Amino acid sequence: MSPTDTSGVRLRPEIVALPAYKQGKAADADAFKLSSNENPFDPLPGVIAAVQAETAFNRYPDASARALRERLAAKFGRPLDEVHVGSGSVALLAQLILAAAGPGDEVLYSWRSFEAYPSLVTVSGATSVRVPGRADYGHDLPEMAAALTDKTRVVIVCSPNNPTGTIVTTEEFTSFMAVVPSDLLVILDEAYIEFVTDPEAVNGLTLLDSYPNLVVLRTFSKAYGLAGLRVGYALGASAILDAARATAIPLSVTGQASAAALASLDAEPELLARVRVLAHRRDAAWRALTEQGWAIPRPQGNFLWLPTAAETAAVAETLADAGLVVRAFAPEGIRVSIGEEDAIATLLLIGADIVQDLP
Ligand code: PMP
Repeated sequence: MSPTDTSGVRLRPEIVALPAYKQGKAADADAFKLSSNENPFDPLPGVIAAVQAETAFNRYPDASARALRERLAAKFGRPLDEVHVGSGSVALLAQLILAAAGPGDEVLYSWRSFEAYPSLVTVSGATSVRVPGRADYGHDLPEMAAALTDKTRVVIVCSPNNPTGTIVTTEEFTSFMAVVPSDLLVILDEAYIEFVTDPEAVNGLTLLDSYPNLVVLRTFSKAYGLAGLRVGYALGASAILDAARATAIPLSVTGQASAAALASLDAEPELLARVRVLAHRRDAAWRALTEQGWAIPRPQGNFLWLPTAAETAAVAETLADAGLVVRAFAPEGIRVSIGEEDAIATLLLIGADIVQDLP
């Protein structure tokens, strides 16, 4: 008998078994939400005004978000047809996976990484191949290269990696690309690139001309603080992006989202100054926690990875009691977003006691 849901309707069994997307826990009014790598700064008045000015919502938005694509194409010096915009980079990930992989195919990525990867691959009908990260929490690209098969259709590389915060270096990435067949789609997920300060970190934008099979994904959700409006973009060969577009649910990027993204690009100096504040707060927290005895991989996104292993649930509870709502990945560790100054000060205050109790 085919699996059914409780209504008796035949559904795809792998979809019925799929857990719903787990959102970072909400925080009470007196707690800090450090569970979704959001930007803690309030939206800029100019960005709010741009959204408020977008009132023709009796009309559909422009299907290709052309104005925003033109602006991004000019900013990055890429042709217009090599820029694609979606309702968050997670939507673009879904489109790209669907465009290249289906039943019988494999999608390869490092694990642990972004929680959405396994679900999106399952939805496509393809099979996930997860290559364990290195002991230092970075991607093991030589092992990923060794795991390629003739069924591999997509490779996802995440730098900085969510949730460990590690980067892939340019050298690691180009060595990997040298052994990847040129007909295999490689997605470089750079959702957190604006927070990177390590000069050795890969920057996909500079490699697009060298690798026609590379697509770079970025987002307005993190550095630009537009998580709630849902705008991400992909840079890559037009033929790949056309195939991604063909899988997309049409008209998902609203006029308000485009307007906010455009206004954010207008306000880029101010927004990037905020990014520098957060990166500085992150580095200061990493140094202080390291001095306390924590073994935290050098963070390059807007979050830290606390390797709490078997104590993960207990530590998350201790943090919650102190008003810090974090993301626990039991039994490996805890991801803490670099939020408000007071939140990180609290983390540093209680961090010393917590690390003493870890085995
Ligand atoms: N990639 C990574 C690595 C992420 O962590 C996230 C968000 N948590 C995304 C993509 C998706 O972000 P968005 O859809 O908001 O652009």
